[in-house]
Amino acid sequence: MFCTKCGKEIDNNAVMCPNCGCATSYRDFRQNDTMAELQEQNLVSSISNLGTLSLIFAFIIPIVSIILAIVGFSKISSSKSMIKTNSGKYAIDKSKSKMTAGIIISVVGFVIVVIPVIIVTIFMIANS
Ligand SMILES: [Zn+2]
Repeated sequence: MFCTKCGKEIDNNAVMCPNCGCATSYRDFRQNDTMAELQEQNLVSSISNLGTLSLIFAFIIPIVSIILAIVGFSKISSSKSMIKTNSGKYAIDKSKSKMTAGIIISVVGFVIVVIPVIIVTIFMIANS
């Protein structure tokens, strides 16, 4: 490149002109590039964090739901004799229905969400 002040040809990477000492535009370009790179890195890392969290929660939420239902069912079977009133029995029946629904929804969710996610992940890893 050429110096904007004295017109002498100078190195493309020079920060200032060796002839007149005038600052070149190279430093600004480089800083802008670094800023853009940093912004891109931050953006990419925040997006990839979201991807990872999304994948983790796809596994965790159905599993948490199933675990809660299993805990509920085991609590019912271990304390059945303690529930004697009709309203108590009714409430337990209602809870059983909710836990059964929770398990079914989790399993269906697992099949329609998590299995495709696993397949896509394997596919992406295989292609990277
Ligand atoms: Zn110069």
